Amino acid sequence: MRADLSGQPWAVYGLARSGLATLRFLQRSGAAVVAWDDSVAARDAAAAAVPSVRLADLMAEPLQGLAGLVVSPGVPLNRHPLAARAAAAGVPILGDIELFQRARPALPAHTLVAITGTNGKSTTTSLLHHLLASAGLLARLGGNIGLPVLDQPPLPSGGIYVLELSSFQIDLSQTVAANIAILTNVTPDHLDRYASMDAYAAAKARLFAMQGPGDKAIIAVEDDFTRAIADTLPAERVTRVSSADVAAHDQARWPALPGPHNAQNVACAVAAARILGVSDAAIEQGLRSFPGLPHRMEQVGTRRGVRFVNDSKATNPTSVAPALQAYANVHWIAGGQAKTKELDACMPHLSHVKAAYTIGEAAGLFAEILRPRVKVVESGTLANAVTDAAAAAVPGDTVLLSPACASFDQFRDFEARGSAFRVAVEGLPQ
Ligand code: ADP
Repeated sequence: MRADLSGQPWAVYGLARSGLATLRFLQRSGAAVVAWDDSVAARDAAAAAVPSVRLADLMAEPLQGLAGLVVSPGVPLNRHPLAARAAAAGVPILGDIELFQRARPALPAHTLVAITGTNGKSTTTSLLHHLLASAGLLARLGGNIGLPVLDQPPLPSGGIYVLELSSFQIDLSQTVAANIAILTNVTPDHLDRYASMDAYAAAKARLFAMQGPGDKAIIAVEDDFTRAIADTLPAERVTRVSSADVAAHDQARWPALPGPHNAQNVACAVAAARILGVSDAAIEQGLRSFPGLPHRMEQVGTRRGVRFVNDSKATNPTSVAPALQAYANVHWIAGGQAKTKELDACMPHLSHVKAAYTIGEAAGLFAEILRPRVKVVESGTLANAVTDAAAAAVPGDTVLLSPACASFDQFRDFEARGSAFRVAVEGLPQ
Protein backbone atom coordinates (compact mmCIF):
# COMPACT_ATOMS: atom_id res chain seq x y z
CA MET A 1 0.00 0.00 0.00
CA ARG A 2 1.24 3.54 -0.78
CA ALA A 3 0.17 7.15 -1.25
CA ASP A 4 1.66 9.92 -3.35
CA LEU A 5 3.88 11.82 -0.93
CA SER A 6 6.88 12.24 -3.21
CA GLY A 7 9.48 14.66 -1.93
CA GLN A 8 7.46 15.51 1.18
CA PRO A 9 9.30 15.72 4.53
CA TRP A 10 7.66 13.55 7.22
CA ALA A 11 8.58 12.60 10.76
CA VAL A 12 7.73 9.43 12.70
CA TYR A 13 7.87 9.16 16.49
CA GLY A 14 7.54 5.70 18.04
CA LEU A 15 9.12 2.83 16.10
CA ALA A 16 7.38 -0.30 17.34
CA ARG A 17 5.23 -2.43 15.03
CA SER A 18 2.92 0.19 13.54
CA GLY A 19 5.79 2.73 13.52
CA LEU A 20 7.94 0.45 11.37
CA ALA A 21 5.01 -0.18 9.02
CA THR A 22 4.55 3.60 8.81
CA LEU A 23 8.24 4.06 7.93
CA ARG A 24 8.02 1.51 5.15
CA PHE A 25 4.81 3.08 3.86
CA LEU A 26 6.31 6.59 3.81
CA GLN A 27 9.41 5.29 2.03
CA ARG A 28 7.30 3.53 -0.65
CA SER A 29 5.28 6.72 -0.99
CA GLY A 30 8.39 8.76 -1.83
CA ALA A 31 8.59 10.81 1.38
CA ALA A 32 11.84 11.94 3.06
CA VAL A 33 11.59 10.60 6.59
CA VAL A 34 13.18 11.54 9.89
CA ALA A 35 12.31 9.20 12.76
CA TRP A 36 12.95 8.67 16.45
CA ASP A 37 12.21 6.33 19.30
CA ASP A 38 13.64 6.77 22.80
CA SER A 39 14.72 3.11 22.75
CA VAL A 40 18.03 2.33 21.03
CA ALA A 41 16.81 -1.16 20.09
CA ALA A 42 13.77 0.33 18.33
CA ARG A 43 15.99 2.80 16.44
CA ASP A 44 18.29 -0.03 15.36
CA ALA A 45 15.29 -2.03 14.12
CA ALA A 46 14.13 1.01 12.13
CA ALA A 47 17.54 1.54 10.55
CA ALA A 48 17.62 -2.13 9.56
CA ALA A 49 14.08 -2.05 8.14
CA VAL A 50 14.46 1.22 6.21
CA PRO A 51 18.14 2.06 5.62
CA SER A 52 17.28 5.45 4.04
CA VAL A 53 15.63 6.73 7.23
CA ARG A 54 17.35 9.60 9.06
CA LEU A 55 17.32 9.07 12.83
CA ALA A 56 17.22 12.28 14.89
CA ASP A 57 15.77 13.21 18.27
CA LEU A 58 12.53 15.00 17.45
CA MET A 59 12.72 16.92 20.73
CA ALA A 60 15.88 18.63 19.39
CA GLU A 61 15.23 18.58 15.64
CA PRO A 62 13.53 21.63 14.05
CA LEU A 63 10.02 20.55 13.00
CA GLN A 64 9.07 23.57 10.84
CA GLY A 65 8.08 22.64 7.30
CA LEU A 66 7.22 18.98 7.94
CA ALA A 67 4.15 17.73 6.06
CA GLY A 68 3.20 15.70 9.12
CA LEU A 69 4.37 14.00 12.29
CA VAL A 70 3.18 10.42 12.66
CA VAL A 71 2.98 9.36 16.29
CA SER A 72 2.44 5.90 17.73
CA PRO A 73 -0.92 5.60 19.56
CA GLY A 74 1.01 4.52 22.67
CA VAL A 75 2.52 7.99 23.13
CA PRO A 76 0.51 9.93 25.75
CA LEU A 77 0.15 13.16 23.76
CA ASN A 78 -1.85 14.78 26.57
CA ARG A 79 1.39 15.09 28.54
CA HIS A 80 4.18 14.51 26.01
CA PRO A 81 6.17 17.68 25.17
CA LEU A 82 6.36 16.72 21.48
CA ALA A 83 2.72 17.75 21.08
CA ALA A 84 3.49 21.37 22.02
CA ARG A 85 6.61 21.41 19.80
CA ALA A 86 4.61 20.21 16.79
CA ALA A 87 1.81 22.70 17.49
CA ALA A 88 4.32 25.57 17.76
CA ALA A 89 5.82 24.53 14.42
CA GLY A 90 2.36 24.26 12.81
CA VAL A 91 2.89 20.59 12.00
CA PRO A 92 -0.14 18.27 12.04
CA ILE A 93 0.14 15.18 14.26
CA LEU A 94 -1.47 12.06 12.87
CA GLY A 95 -1.46 8.28 13.08
CA ASP A 96 -1.18 5.30 10.76
CA ILE A 97 -4.93 5.06 10.20
CA GLU A 98 -5.00 8.64 8.89
CA LEU A 99 -2.18 7.68 6.50
CA PHE A 100 -4.31 4.73 5.39
CA GLN A 101 -7.11 7.22 4.69
CA ARG A 102 -4.67 9.23 2.52
CA ALA A 103 -3.93 6.04 0.56
CA ARG A 104 -7.62 5.20 0.05
CA PRO A 105 -8.37 7.34 -3.04
CA ALA A 106 -5.86 5.29 -5.06
CA LEU A 107 -7.09 1.89 -3.75
CA PRO A 108 -9.44 -0.33 -5.76
CA ALA A 109 -13.12 0.20 -4.80
CA HIS A 110 -13.50 -0.97 -1.21
CA THR A 111 -15.46 -0.62 2.01
CA LEU A 112 -13.93 0.54 5.29
CA VAL A 113 -15.43 -0.72 8.53
CA ALA A 114 -14.01 0.81 11.74
CA ILE A 115 -14.77 -0.61 15.17
CA THR A 116 -14.30 1.15 18.48
CA GLY A 117 -15.57 0.98 22.07
CA THR A 118 -14.09 0.54 25.53
CA ASN A 119 -14.46 -3.25 25.51
CA GLY A 120 -15.19 -5.79 22.82
CA LYS A 121 -13.27 -4.11 20.00
CA SER A 122 -10.99 -7.04 19.20
CA THR A 123 -13.74 -9.62 19.56
CA THR A 124 -16.17 -7.67 17.36
CA THR A 125 -13.47 -6.92 14.79
CA SER A 126 -12.25 -10.48 14.47
CA LEU A 127 -15.80 -11.84 14.56
CA LEU A 128 -16.94 -9.52 11.76
CA HIS A 129 -13.84 -10.40 9.76
CA HIS A 130 -14.64 -14.09 10.29
CA LEU A 131 -18.31 -13.64 9.26
CA LEU A 132 -17.26 -11.89 6.05
CA ALA A 133 -14.39 -14.22 5.17
CA SER A 134 -16.37 -17.37 5.89
CA ALA A 135 -19.15 -16.03 3.64
CA GLY A 136 -16.61 -15.79 0.84
CA LEU A 137 -16.07 -12.00 0.87
CA LEU A 138 -12.59 -10.51 0.61
CA ALA A 139 -11.90 -9.01 4.00
CA ARG A 140 -8.78 -7.77 5.74
CA LEU A 141 -8.24 -7.39 9.48
CA GLY A 142 -6.13 -4.47 10.76
CA GLY A 143 -5.76 -1.45 13.00
CA ASN A 144 -5.15 -2.32 16.61
CA ILE A 145 -5.24 -6.04 15.79
CA GLY A 146 -3.42 -8.26 13.34
CA LEU A 147 -0.82 -6.91 10.91
CA PRO A 148 -0.48 -3.13 10.47
CA VAL A 149 -2.75 -2.14 7.58
CA LEU A 150 -0.08 0.04 5.93
CA ASP A 151 2.17 -3.01 5.49
CA GLN A 152 -0.41 -4.99 3.57
CA PRO A 153 -1.00 -5.11 -0.16
CA PRO A 154 -4.25 -3.47 -1.31
CA LEU A 155 -7.31 -5.70 -1.60
CA PRO A 156 -8.75 -6.15 -5.08
CA SER A 157 -11.96 -4.33 -6.00
CA GLY A 158 -14.82 -5.15 -3.63
CA GLY A 159 -12.54 -5.75 -0.65
CA ILE A 160 -13.55 -4.87 2.90
CA TYR A 161 -11.06 -3.45 5.41
CA VAL A 162 -12.15 -4.25 8.96
CA LEU A 163 -10.14 -2.06 11.34
CA GLU A 164 -10.13 -1.99 15.13
CA LEU A 165 -9.51 1.56 16.37
CA SER A 166 -8.62 2.57 19.91
CA SER A 167 -9.62 6.06 21.02
CA PHE A 168 -5.95 7.06 20.64
CA GLN A 169 -6.00 6.05 16.98
CA ILE A 170 -9.16 8.11 16.53
CA ASP A 171 -7.45 11.06 18.24
CA LEU A 172 -4.66 10.76 15.67
CA SER A 173 -7.12 10.77 12.75
CA GLN A 174 -8.54 13.86 11.09
CA THR A 175 -10.36 12.64 7.96
CA VAL A 176 -10.88 8.87 8.40
CA ALA A 177 -14.33 8.33 6.90
CA ALA A 178 -15.50 4.79 7.67
CA ASN A 179 -18.32 3.52 5.45
CA ILE A 180 -19.53 1.63 8.51
CA ALA A 181 -18.47 2.67 12.03
CA ILE A 182 -19.28 0.49 15.04
CA LEU A 183 -19.35 1.47 18.74
CA THR A 184 -19.68 -1.34 21.29
CA ASN A 185 -19.76 0.57 24.61
CA VAL A 186 -18.20 3.46 26.53
CA THR A 187 -17.27 2.84 30.19
CA PRO A 188 -14.47 4.24 32.41
CA ASP A 189 -10.98 3.50 31.06
CA HIS A 190 -7.83 5.39 30.03
CA LEU A 191 -8.57 8.22 32.42
CA ASP A 192 -4.83 8.87 32.60
CA ARG A 193 -5.03 10.00 28.97
CA TYR A 194 -8.27 11.99 29.08
CA ALA A 195 -9.31 14.88 31.31
CA SER A 196 -12.72 13.32 32.04
CA MET A 197 -15.17 10.61 30.96
CA ASP A 198 -16.84 13.20 28.73
CA ALA A 199 -13.53 13.88 26.99
CA TYR A 200 -12.99 10.13 26.52
CA ALA A 201 -16.51 9.69 25.10
CA ALA A 202 -15.94 12.70 22.83
CA ALA A 203 -12.91 10.91 21.38
CA LYS A 204 -15.10 7.93 20.48
CA ALA A 205 -17.76 10.25 19.02
CA ARG A 206 -15.25 11.71 16.56
CA LEU A 207 -15.24 8.43 14.60
CA PHE A 208 -18.85 9.18 13.67
CA ALA A 209 -18.25 12.91 13.13
CA MET A 210 -15.64 12.07 10.47
CA GLN A 211 -18.09 9.94 8.44
CA GLY A 212 -19.82 11.19 5.30
CA PRO A 213 -23.60 11.59 4.87
CA GLY A 214 -24.09 8.19 3.17
CA ASP A 215 -22.06 6.27 5.77
CA LYS A 216 -23.59 3.99 8.39
CA ALA A 217 -23.24 3.83 12.16
CA ILE A 218 -23.90 0.75 14.28
CA ILE A 219 -24.14 1.59 17.98
CA ALA A 220 -24.88 -0.70 20.93
CA VAL A 221 -27.09 1.64 22.94
CA GLU A 222 -26.57 0.05 26.36
CA ASP A 223 -24.89 2.90 28.23
CA ASP A 224 -25.57 6.62 28.53
CA PHE A 225 -22.50 7.61 26.50
CA THR A 226 -23.30 5.44 23.47
CA ARG A 227 -26.97 6.49 23.60
CA ALA A 228 -25.92 10.15 23.61
CA ILE A 229 -23.63 9.60 20.63
CA ALA A 230 -26.39 7.78 18.69
CA ASP A 231 -28.77 10.66 19.43
CA THR A 232 -26.44 13.19 17.77
CA LEU A 233 -26.54 11.35 14.42
CA PRO A 234 -29.25 11.53 11.73
CA ALA A 235 -31.67 8.65 12.42
CA GLU A 236 -31.35 7.16 8.93
CA ARG A 237 -27.62 6.64 9.42
CA VAL A 238 -27.83 4.72 12.69
CA THR A 239 -28.59 1.08 13.43
CA ARG A 240 -29.15 0.78 17.18
CA VAL A 241 -28.35 -2.65 18.55
CA SER A 242 -28.24 -4.30 21.96
CA SER A 243 -27.26 -7.60 23.55
CA ALA A 244 -31.00 -8.18 24.08
CA ASP A 245 -31.34 -8.61 20.28
CA VAL A 246 -29.46 -11.89 20.66
CA ALA A 247 -31.60 -14.69 22.07
CA ALA A 248 -29.90 -16.86 24.69
CA HIS A 249 -31.04 -20.07 22.96
CA ASP A 250 -29.30 -18.89 19.77
CA GLN A 251 -26.14 -17.94 21.64
CA ALA A 252 -25.90 -21.45 23.06
CA ARG A 253 -24.93 -22.66 19.57
CA TRP A 254 -21.83 -20.43 19.36
CA PRO A 255 -19.14 -21.96 21.56
CA ALA A 256 -16.64 -19.07 21.44
CA LEU A 257 -19.19 -16.33 22.19
CA PRO A 258 -20.62 -16.90 25.69
CA GLY A 259 -21.97 -14.25 28.04
CA PRO A 260 -23.95 -11.01 27.75
CA HIS A 261 -20.89 -9.05 26.66
CA ASN A 262 -20.44 -11.34 23.67
CA ALA A 263 -24.14 -10.97 22.85
CA GLN A 264 -23.37 -7.25 22.49
CA ASN A 265 -20.38 -7.99 20.25
CA VAL A 266 -22.48 -10.40 18.16
CA ALA A 267 -25.27 -7.83 17.78
CA CYS A 268 -22.75 -5.30 16.44
CA ALA A 269 -20.94 -7.69 14.08
CA VAL A 270 -24.15 -9.22 12.72
CA ALA A 271 -25.64 -5.78 11.96
CA ALA A 272 -22.53 -4.92 9.94
CA ALA A 273 -22.47 -8.27 8.14
CA ARG A 274 -26.12 -7.74 7.13
CA ILE A 275 -25.41 -4.26 5.75
CA LEU A 276 -22.55 -5.82 3.77
CA GLY A 277 -24.92 -8.34 2.22
CA VAL A 278 -24.12 -11.55 4.11
CA SER A 279 -27.12 -13.87 4.32
CA ASP A 280 -28.57 -14.92 7.68
CA ALA A 281 -27.65 -18.54 6.92
CA ALA A 282 -24.00 -17.62 6.28
CA ILE A 283 -23.96 -15.45 9.44
CA GLU A 284 -25.22 -18.39 11.53
CA GLN A 285 -22.50 -20.64 10.05
CA GLY A 286 -19.87 -18.03 10.88
CA LEU A 287 -21.07 -17.56 14.46
CA ARG A 288 -20.86 -21.31 14.97
CA SER A 289 -17.37 -21.65 13.51
CA PHE A 290 -15.82 -18.54 15.13
CA PRO A 291 -12.76 -19.84 17.02
CA GLY A 292 -12.59 -17.00 19.60
CA LEU A 293 -9.54 -15.02 20.61
CA PRO A 294 -6.75 -15.97 23.00
CA HIS A 295 -6.63 -14.20 26.41
CA ARG A 296 -10.38 -13.45 26.36
CA MET A 297 -12.21 -15.95 28.55
CA GLU A 298 -9.99 -18.61 27.02
CA GLN A 299 -10.15 -21.98 28.71
CA VAL A 300 -6.52 -23.07 29.01
CA GLY A 301 -7.00 -26.36 30.81
CA THR A 302 -8.73 -28.51 33.39
CA ARG A 303 -6.93 -30.06 36.38
CA ARG A 304 -8.69 -32.39 38.83
CA GLY A 305 -12.08 -31.12 37.73
CA VAL A 306 -11.07 -27.46 38.07
CA ARG A 307 -11.35 -25.26 35.01
CA PHE A 308 -8.65 -22.60 34.37
CA VAL A 309 -9.68 -19.56 32.33
CA ASN A 310 -7.32 -16.94 30.93
CA ASP A 311 -9.06 -13.56 30.64
CA SER A 312 -5.82 -11.53 30.77
CA LYS A 313 -7.28 -9.02 28.30
CA ALA A 314 -9.79 -7.87 30.93
CA THR A 315 -7.86 -4.78 31.97
CA ASN A 316 -10.68 -2.74 33.53
CA PRO A 317 -13.51 -3.59 35.97
CA THR A 318 -16.26 -3.46 33.33
CA SER A 319 -14.58 -6.13 31.22
CA VAL A 320 -14.20 -8.39 34.29
CA ALA A 321 -17.90 -8.20 35.21
CA PRO A 322 -19.13 -10.51 32.41
CA ALA A 323 -16.42 -13.05 33.16
CA LEU A 324 -17.45 -13.25 36.83
CA GLN A 325 -21.06 -13.71 35.73
CA ALA A 326 -20.17 -16.51 33.35
CA TYR A 327 -19.00 -19.00 36.04
CA ALA A 328 -20.50 -20.17 39.33
CA ASN A 329 -17.67 -20.87 41.81
CA VAL A 330 -14.83 -18.60 40.91
CA HIS A 331 -11.31 -18.32 42.33
CA TRP A 332 -10.60 -14.89 40.95
CA ILE A 333 -7.04 -13.70 40.27
CA ALA A 334 -7.03 -9.91 40.02
CA GLY A 335 -4.51 -7.08 40.14
CA GLY A 336 -1.61 -5.55 38.26
CA GLN A 337 -1.40 -1.87 37.41
CA ALA A 338 -4.78 -0.45 38.38
CA LYS A 339 -6.48 1.92 35.95
CA THR A 340 -9.21 2.85 38.42
CA LYS A 341 -9.24 2.91 42.22
CA GLU A 342 -12.49 0.94 42.37
CA LEU A 343 -13.98 -2.37 41.29
CA ASP A 344 -17.55 -1.10 41.19
CA ALA A 345 -18.60 -2.98 38.06
CA CYS A 346 -17.46 -6.27 39.65
CA MET A 347 -19.16 -5.85 43.04
CA PRO A 348 -22.65 -7.05 41.97
CA HIS A 349 -21.14 -10.39 40.91
CA LEU A 350 -19.14 -11.28 44.03
CA SER A 351 -21.68 -13.96 44.92
CA HIS A 352 -19.96 -16.00 42.19
CA VAL A 353 -16.56 -15.56 43.84
CA LYS A 354 -15.34 -18.10 46.41
CA ALA A 355 -12.03 -16.32 46.96
CA ALA A 356 -9.95 -13.56 45.38
CA TYR A 357 -6.17 -13.75 44.91
CA THR A 358 -4.64 -10.31 44.48
CA ILE A 359 -1.40 -9.64 42.63
CA GLY A 360 0.87 -6.83 41.48
CA GLU A 361 0.79 -3.15 42.41
CA ALA A 362 -2.95 -3.27 43.04
CA ALA A 363 -2.75 -6.27 45.41
CA GLY A 364 -3.22 -4.18 48.55
CA LEU A 365 -5.87 -1.87 47.13
CA PHE A 366 -7.97 -4.71 45.72
CA ALA A 367 -7.59 -6.73 48.95
CA GLU A 368 -8.91 -3.75 50.91
CA ILE A 369 -11.90 -3.30 48.56
CA LEU A 370 -12.80 -7.00 48.45
CA ARG A 371 -12.04 -8.20 51.98
CA PRO A 372 -15.35 -7.12 53.55
CA ARG A 373 -17.19 -9.19 50.91
CA VAL A 374 -15.10 -12.26 50.02
CA LYS A 375 -12.14 -14.28 51.24
CA VAL A 376 -8.93 -12.62 49.99
CA VAL A 377 -5.42 -14.02 49.63
CA GLU A 378 -2.71 -11.46 48.81
CA SER A 379 -0.69 -13.77 46.54
CA GLY A 380 1.55 -11.02 45.14
CA THR A 381 2.60 -12.76 41.95
CA LEU A 382 0.62 -14.53 39.26
CA ALA A 383 2.55 -17.77 39.77
CA ASN A 384 1.74 -17.74 43.52
CA ALA A 385 -1.89 -16.92 42.78
CA VAL A 386 -2.24 -19.93 40.46
CA THR A 387 -0.72 -22.21 43.10
CA ASP A 388 -2.86 -20.72 45.90
CA ALA A 389 -6.07 -20.90 43.84
CA ALA A 390 -5.38 -24.43 42.58
CA ALA A 391 -4.79 -25.61 46.17
CA ALA A 392 -8.11 -24.16 47.37
CA ALA A 393 -10.29 -25.10 44.38
CA VAL A 394 -12.50 -28.21 44.37
CA PRO A 395 -13.93 -30.03 41.34
CA GLY A 396 -16.50 -27.84 39.57
CA ASP A 397 -14.73 -24.59 40.50
CA THR A 398 -13.15 -22.19 38.02
CA VAL A 399 -9.81 -20.43 38.48
CA LEU A 400 -10.16 -17.20 36.55
CA LEU A 401 -7.40 -14.73 35.69
CA SER A 402 -9.39 -11.58 34.96
CA PRO A 403 -7.17 -8.88 36.38
CA ALA A 404 -9.12 -5.58 35.96
CA CYS A 405 -5.69 -4.00 35.55
CA ALA A 406 -3.00 -3.26 33.01
CA SER A 407 -0.11 -5.72 33.10
CA PHE A 408 2.88 -3.39 32.85
CA ASP A 409 3.95 -3.62 36.51
CA GLN A 410 4.90 -7.30 36.12
CA PHE A 411 4.63 -8.19 32.41
CA ARG A 412 5.47 -6.79 28.96
CA ASP A 413 1.80 -6.81 27.95
CA PHE A 414 -1.47 -8.65 28.51
CA GLU A 415 -0.39 -11.41 26.14
CA ALA A 416 2.75 -12.12 28.19
CA ARG A 417 0.58 -12.18 31.34
CA GLY A 418 -1.87 -14.63 29.73
CA SER A 419 0.97 -16.84 28.53
CA ALA A 420 2.52 -16.84 32.03
CA PHE A 421 -0.85 -17.95 33.40
CA ARG A 422 -0.99 -20.81 30.90
CA VAL A 423 2.57 -21.87 31.78
CA ALA A 424 1.75 -21.77 35.52
CA VAL A 425 -1.38 -23.89 34.93
CA GLU A 426 0.55 -26.39 32.83
CA GLY A 427 3.13 -26.65 35.63
CA LEU A 428 0.52 -27.70 38.23
CA PRO A 429 0.59 -31.34 39.36
CA GLN A 430 -1.82 -33.47 37.32
P1 ADP B 1 -10.92 -4.69 23.40
O1 ADP B 1 -10.24 -4.98 22.11
O2 ADP B 1 -11.90 -3.55 23.28
O3 ADP B 1 -10.03 -4.55 24.57
P2 ADP B 1 -11.68 -7.51 23.60
O4 ADP B 1 -12.64 -8.05 22.62
O5 ADP B 1 -10.25 -7.82 23.43
O6 ADP B 1 -11.90 -5.93 23.70
O7 ADP B 1 -12.14 -7.94 25.07
C1 ADP B 1 -11.43 -7.39 26.17
C2 ADP B 1 -12.00 -7.89 27.48
O8 ADP B 1 -13.31 -7.36 27.65
C3 ADP B 1 -12.15 -9.40 27.61
O9 ADP B 1 -11.84 -9.71 28.92
C4 ADP B 1 -13.60 -9.69 27.32
O10 ADP B 1 -14.07 -10.80 28.04
C5 ADP B 1 -14.28 -8.40 27.75
N1 ADP B 1 -15.33 -8.00 26.79
C6 ADP B 1 -15.42 -8.36 25.49
N2 ADP B 1 -16.49 -7.77 24.92
C7 ADP B 1 -17.07 -7.00 25.86
C8 ADP B 1 -18.22 -6.15 25.88
N3 ADP B 1 -18.97 -5.96 24.78
N4 ADP B 1 -18.53 -5.54 27.05
C9 ADP B 1 -17.79 -5.71 28.17
N5 ADP B 1 -16.70 -6.51 28.21
C10 ADP B 1 -16.33 -7.15 27.07
